[in-house]
Amino acid sequence: MSEQPPTANGQTSFDPQAAFAALRHEFGEHGGVNMSIEASTTFTVLQAGTMPEIFRGQRGPEQGGCFLYGRHFNPTVYVLGRQIAALEGAQAGYAAASGLGAISATLLQVCNTGDHVVAGNTIYGGTFALLREYLPLKAGITTTFVPAHDLASVEAAITPRTRAIYVETVSNPTLRVADIPALARIAKARGVSLIVDNTFTPMIISPIQMGADIVCHSLTKFMNGASDIIGGAVVGTADFISSMMDLHTGSLMLLGPTMDPRIAFEVSMRLPHLGLRMTEHSRRAAAFASRLNDLGLSVGYPGLTEHPDHALLKRLANDGFGLGGLLTIDLGTQARAERLMETLQNEQHFGYMAVSLGYFDTLMSCSAASTSSEMGAADLAAAGISPGLVRMSLGITGTLEQRWDQMEAALRKNGLI
Ligand code: PLP
Repeated sequence: MSEQPPTANGQTSFDPQAAFAALRHEFGEHGGVNMSIEASTTFTVLQAGTMPEIFRGQRGPEQGGCFLYGRHFNPTVYVLGRQIAALEGAQAGYAAASGLGAISATLLQVCNTGDHVVAGNTIYGGTFALLREYLPLKAGITTTFVPAHDLASVEAAITPRTRAIYVETVSNPTLRVADIPALARIAKARGVSLIVDNTFTPMIISPIQMGADIVCHSLTKFMNGASDIIGGAVVGTADFISSMMDLHTGSLMLLGPTMDPRIAFEVSMRLPHLGLRMTEHSRRAAAFASRLNDLGLSVGYPGLTEHPDHALLKRLANDGFGLGGLLTIDLGTQARAERLMETLQNEQHFGYMAVSLGYFDTLMSCSAASTSSEMGAADLAAAGISPGLVRMSLGITGTLEQRWDQMEAALRKNGLI
């Protein structure tokens, strides 16, 4: 865990790039510059007596480097977990088969039947459905949804059965920024865990440095960068991560959302250039947001000074990676949003109508009709997700000017400028 104290304005001097570089380099078995892939599902021991010691939790990867079975710690997946923990400045981390696998295992580790969660009301639709429908039905864990930027309503929703506050650093798709230091103070005072999904802002914001207890990621997005791999991760204290691997009560171990070591290797190979990619995604999104705003469109981007969370984001963001690679354009109606996206994709070749984000090309979707469609009309309205809201994850291919020309042409064709 980083020892960096927060500065006077609540910002830390944490540098995720430096933390990543400080990690011991993993060489391959024959001296390769890249680590080897440990593609074994089971591991031998030299003495028979070592086996029961591993089962008793006395000889894990941190206590003598013993491994047991691929659904428990795997050496390659373990390295990826350490790398993501380093990026977040956490003590420990581990990877999972998907972002939702990491999130659901985390929530089930923190909460027991009858427990309660306070969650932001604008979060990824799959997480919303997990909290709103699946967990009450299957596990008796209930959730109160509140606007995460309204700290008084977060505090008021906490009950004696609350075990966690769950928020996204930058909410999907409304791009509201969570005040992590303030939420962490509330969580600490009330004895609950602050769980943060940092999928939208790896490198840019480091919630653990501001007091969050647990950070989850979908590695399917920016971390991976090529939209070819589904993966997830959770980081936190060493005790919490090892509790998730407990042979009797560990949700990663027993529910089994296990990442394949070949996939862990692939994701690990993309992390050294994550910082460069985030900086460029941010640069493109900032330029587009500002130009669209100047043209009079209804743009949401927390990097714009007009955005209600701009000052907060500036305070929370690490230096050097910009203010995020996503923006929204509210076109009022779903029909207008769909026409613009079709022109952008089919005539201008500007990007793709597809869910997800963090791809090297631009991805765009109409949130209410796609990744937030798990929310009903009332929940969408409460969260401020209009039917015409297009979420755009700005790509980094081509040149910025070439892409802007395509955007302008599509706006003109649709009578929007
Ligand atoms: N968290 C956020 C913010 C997301 O946008 C998503 C997916 O879109 C997830 C989590 C789930 O990740 P995965 O698809 O890897 O399970």
